[in-house]
Parts: sequence; C-alpha cells; structure tokens
Amino acid sequence: MAARILDGRALAAELRDEIAARSERLRARGIAPSLVVAIAGEDAASHAYVRSIEKAGAKAGVDVRVDALAADAAEGDVRARLRALGDDPLVHGIILQQPLPRHLEIRRIAEALPAHKDVDGANPVNLGRLAFASGTELVPATPLACMLLLERSARWPLRGARACIVGRSNVVGLPVALLLMKADATVTIAHSRTADLARCTRDAEILVAAAGKPGMIGADMVAPGATVIDVGTNFVDGKLTGDVAYDEVAEIAGEITPVPGGVGPVTNIALLRNVVLAAERQAARA
Ligand code: NAP
Repeated sequence: MAARILDGRALAAELRDEIAARSERLRARGIAPSLVVAIAGEDAASHAYVRSIEKAGAKAGVDVRVDALAADAAEGDVRARLRALGDDPLVHGIILQQPLPRHLEIRRIAEALPAHKDVDGANPVNLGRLAFASGTELVPATPLACMLLLERSARWPLRGARACIVGRSNVVGLPVALLLMKADATVTIAHSRTADLARCTRDAEILVAAAGKPGMIGADMVAPGATVIDVGTNFVDGKLTGDVAYDEVAEIAGEITPVPGGVGPVTNIALLRNVVLAAERQAARA
C-alpha cells in the first residue's frame, strides 16, 4: 500500500496563516517583525535561498532584508557587524548564511550572534541549550520543521518509538536527535562511519534522512509502515531530490515527506515563526 504523504506545503500554508495573524497583532503595536540575512560574498545558492525567504516573509508579515558583507571581510568586521545587528531594536532575527568564505570560521563568528536573535540556531550556545531539559531560546528551523511534520504524523506522540537519524551535523542531525529524545523517542544516530547502516534504518519506526546523499535510502533500508522524513536537498541533473528513493520507499513506508514539498517549505515557515516569536519576546522584555 502506498504511504500517506506528509504534505509540507499544506502544513506551511496552515502555519503561515497563524504567523501572519501574530505578526498583524505585533504590527498593530508598532512592531514590524524583521529578519536580517547576513551574507558574506556572492554565493548564488545563498542569494536564491534569500529570495525564497523574502517571498515567504511577504506572505507571513515578516520583513526580510539582506545585509551584504564583502567576500574578503575580516573576521573581526563580520563579528562587529553581527553585534551591531544584535543591538538594533528594529531587528528581531538574524541568520548568518552559509557557506561562508573559506577564511571565516563559522563557530567563532556565530558566537557574535545574540542567542535571542539567533533564529536558525547557528550560535553554539543555542545548540548547547537544546541539550538541556529546559530547552533553548529558539529551536533551529530545519529540526523544528521535522518535529512540526512529525506532530502531524499518525505516529505522534512519539513516546517510546524507535527513531533513527542518518546524519549527525550540528545544524540538522544532532538537534533533531535532541528534539526526538525530548519527545521521549529512543534515538539512534547513524553517520558515515556507521557499520551496517541498513540494520539501524530498518529497525526504525521513525527514519530521518539527513545525509545529503541523493536516493541513498532505498526500500530495502526501511521497515514496512515506518514514518520517513527526508531532509536531503540534492540537485541531480538540475532537479531537486531527497536522500530517499521516493518511489520505491513510498511503496512500503507508512508515511513519507516528498522532496520537493516536504521539509523545505516547513523549514522556511519555521524560520519566520522563530522571527515572530523572537519579536514577541523582545516586545515583552522592552
Ligand atoms: P552535512 O553537514 O554534510 O552532514 C551530513 C551528515 O550525513 C554527516 O553527519 C555525515 O556523516 C552523514 N553522512 C554522509 N554520508 C553518509 C552515508 N553514506 N551514510 C551515513 N551517513 C552519512 O549536511 P547537513 O547540513 O546536515 O545537511 C544534510 C542534508 O540536509 C543536505 O542534503 C542538506 O542540503 C539538507 N538540508 C535541508 C534543509 C531543508 O530545509 N530541507 C535544511 C538544511 C539542510 P559524518 O558526520 O560521519 O561525516
């Protein structure tokens, strides 16, 4: 039987309405939720991504603007720029777009992002806080999107469920693992050094693929009836594809997110939701 599709576009549309209403309430108080995307250099994919966020922001009531930094900007200058944005009361959320030019080191730079404006979880402090039971100031957008999709899954609540995440990066795999644990799932994290990956993935009731390897999860790696969240964003012959071999896996999984139309649109909206949440909190503190 074909899997039920966890439709990211439909979920994003629902969430957009909720965010637009919250933004409207802030605007009525003279506060315009505002996101600044700091980009160092001329990475074409980064600029394309920003355009998609700008479009989504226009519909959700969030102002999005680019802060362009020179490709050869010194580390100290980038940190100073981020601190200045952090001090600007009209800016509620900041993203430091990656990839950064080679001479800039993400970890050292991201520390200059104030945690309460760090809407995409770049500052290591926010990732550290995620590991604490009390939680973090802002949950990074892609991991949050995975959880929002799982909340709409037949699998929810996740208490006691066996979950496998393929990927352990600081931006996706690791925070997803922490969030799943927080939701009381039993979590296995697999990575490029995992021996017998298929054994881990086949054992999972919830499988999150976040390796960045097109089509690497085949039907023989998925348990019948499993819920499959495909985070992968890969371009193959100019076409966007996930980490999951969608057609064959959809035949045996219970639920699956498509690519495109799954995690991606929910990620964009999760980011904007973080900006509105940050604006609400900053207004409450003012
Ligand atoms: P990353 O930093 O390159 O991390 C990839 C992870 O996958 C690493 O932990 C790596 O293991 C693991 N891995 C790679 N090949 C593997 C293999 N053959 N078997 C098992 N594990 C393997 O990538 P990322 O930033 O986490 O992103 C992951 C994917 O999600 C990418 O396709 C990215 O474009 C996509 N993404 C999508 C969204 C969205 O909104 N949809 C947002 C962010 C990222 P090691 O640690 O051992 O190297």
